[in-house]
Amino acid sequence: MFKEIIKICLNPFILIYFKIKLNHFIHINKNFNRFLVLDIDNTLANTWKYLKTKNKKKISYSEIPLLVKTIEHIKKKYSNLPIVYISHRNILNYYETDIWIQKNIINKNNFLILVSKPGDKLFYLNSILQTHRVIYYDDLSYNHENGKVLFYEKMIEEIKKMDIVYYDYDFIKKLNS
Ligand SMILES: [Mg+2]
Repeated sequence: MFKEIIKICLNPFILIYFKIKLNHFIHINKNFNRFLVLDIDNTLANTWKYLKTKNKKKISYSEIPLLVKTIEHIKKKYSNLPIVYISHRNILNYYETDIWIQKNIINKNNFLILVSKPGDKLFYLNSILQTHRVIYYDDLSYNHENGKVLFYEKMIEEIKKMDIVYYDYDFIKKLNS
């Protein structure tokens, strides 16, 4: 409850804050023509299985096991590109999430954005697309813990209309199976 209230009050400020930081990150990487945009949960990290086995109080976002094959794939193909991580997590988990990223480094040239709703990812993707091409890995799925995988279908539709290279749930699942 407390976390939810913080989230609602802070969200507009957080969005502006990350947008300014992202503009800066884009600017300092203007010599690259492509950016890598990565989701974390169930794309790079085996999150739902981890959360399922853990007592809520013992969850640490810095400890989530990797989806090794996704990371290997990215390292092989795109390891030199600047990375923007965009994850749908509570802002209070920013620090632990960043520890996870720095522990499982793909490229030191990275920047982390957290969004309070998945749809906000489109806002940042569009910002990057103004100046750069985008390679994007994101499962865009949820509800694994209840045995039936659901998808953020509207978002997926939007992304498919965008001029980006998109690696989706099926691709990530196949890689890691
Ligand atoms: Mg995900």
